[in-house]
Order: sequence, then structure tokens, then C-alpha cells
Amino acid sequence: MNKKYSIVIHGGAGTLVKGLMTPEKEEQYNTALNEALEKGYSVLENNGSAKDAVEAAVNHLEDSPLFNAGKGSVFTNDGTHEMDAAIMDGKTLDAGAVSLITGIKNPVSLARDVMEKSDHVFLAGEGAMRFAKSLDYSLECSEYFYDEHRYQQWQNIKDSDTFQLDHSMKKEGKFGTVGAVACDKEGNIAAATSTGGMTNKRWGRVGDSPIIGAGNYANNKTCAVSCTGSGEFFIRGVVAYDVSCLMEYKGLSLEEASSEVINKRVLELGGDGGLIAVDTEGNIAMPFNTEGMYRAYKTSNGQKEVSIYK
Ligand code: ASP
Repeated sequence: MNKKYSIVIHGGAGTLVKGLMTPEKEEQYNTALNEALEKGYSVLENNGSAKDAVEAAVNHLEDSPLFNAGKGSVFTNDGTHEMDAAIMDGKTLDAGAVSLITGIKNPVSLARDVMEKSDHVFLAGEGAMRFAKSLDYSLECSEYFYDEHRYQQWQNIKDSDTFQLDHSMKKEGKFGTVGAVACDKEGNIAAATSTGGMTNKRWGRVGDSPIIGAGNYANNKTCAVSCTGSGEFFIRGVVAYDVSCLMEYKGLSLEEASSEVINKRVLELGGDGGLIAVDTEGNIAMPFNTEGMYRAYKTSNGQKEVSIYK
């Protein structure tokens, strides 16, 4: 029998107010999620690696203005876009991450280049941009990242000290950090996460997404995890690694460990959000403690789902 392989993606979790979502909008989200899912899945189907599959899926979500990553990134307090991303290979434990980068169309691919083409794991700001330049990355102008809705989100709070989760607005909105986790035909797993962070963030604020073990983690011994939610809490909870630890040290299943972290530990800290996870058997988990999480999964034994609410 062939080994089961699978992919799970997310486009952010939060207070997605159902009444404020139009059927047209919902359709757009479902379409974008479905396309990204199929992109990643076809890599697996064609004997590609989990690493290639998660990058392909995240690239697709980064190119959509619907999600808070790449093209759809939120505005900082200075009216700019500062993006964070990470990728990790569960087979080798190789990892790459970037934060506070600007003008890069696909931050997760730069994170992958950090992993594969530098001696480092994590490059930030100016330095990360110089690294991108050394690899001849072209830079998008600020108009590429401009989005009227996100501009209005920022205008509403820019003169305050508030910063907010893109997807927790009590208005119809475009939500979410994006991520993908996958298990390939060889039983190798990988995780990738990409985000514009939080609206109106200042002072070089970095969230959990690019921090290995907080918002993103993969280890063939246990699981691959990508998180979304209020980053400060996910950093303090070392959330992605915590799921892995519960499996490794306590022998919990993927489902049990993921649920324990999101529905108990993160809540006890006061954080909201969710995560997606896979193990090397192709099992999946997608817990969230918010009203909704944009998510989708597909497995080689014919299961598939694209959903937003509980
Ligand atoms: N976790 C991300 C951050 O704090 C935000 C999100 O998930 O939307 O930067």
C-alpha cells in the first residue's frame, strides 16, 4: 500500500464575523484557498518534497490580496509593510527565516534561500534586504502592496497606541497570516508561514511567524506546525515547539497535542488563534480557539475540505 501523504493550509484565524461576510467574499476566499491547496497537493502527487509543497502553497496565498502576507500585507504605524516568514524541513531540521523585510513579493522564498544559500537561520531588516539583493531579488514598489481596505484599517487606529490582529476586526475584512504544512510520499514533513504581522505595529515589532518553535516548526520525529493568532502569546507559549514536545515527551497524538496547546495552554496565557499540523503518517489537525480560521486540507486517501467557520 502506498504511504498516505497530505497537506494542510491556513489563511489566518480570528473573529471572523459571519454576518459581515458576503457570499461573494466567501466564494473568493474559498477559491483562493482551494487553488493554494491544489498547488501544494500537486507537488506531493508528483513525488515532490513536503518542503516544495508548502512553499508552493504559501507563494500562492502571498500573491493574493485577500490574505495578510506578501501582496495583502497590513500597514505598519509608519504606513509601510514589514513582512516576516519562516520555513522548516522536518527531515534535516534545517530552517530559514526573515523578518522586517520590505518590497519582497514572496517572503517565504527568501526564508528558504536563507535556509539553503546562507550559513544562517534568521536574517532581519536591512541585512535580510542586502541578502535578497545579493541574490538579485527584484523589489516591488509600495503600490504593489497597497490595498484600500487595509489602508482604511490602519487609518482607523494609526493615531492610537493600539495594534491589532488583522483578522480580529469586528468588520468585514480581509484576514490573515498564511501557512502550510505537508507530509510527502516519503513521510518527510515541512512547515512554512508568512505574514505582514499586525496592523499599526511599531518599533520593529516581530511576531511569532518567523520565530522557529513559536509560529513555525517541523521535525520528522513528531510533527510540522504553522500557527496564526496574537503573536506575542504564541512567542511566550513557544506554541509550535510545545505541540512537538507534547508528542515527543508525553506520547500524545498529533490531535491531542495540538488541541491541548490551542484550547488550553494558549487560552490560559490569554492568547487567541489556531494552528495547522501534520505528522509523518499524514494525519492532520487544525484546532483554533477563535470563531473561525481560513483553512483547507487534502489527503491522498481522498479526504478534502475547505472551510472558514467552526
Ligand atoms: N501571528 C501573526 C503575528 O503576530 C499574526 C497573524 O497570525 O495574523 O504577527
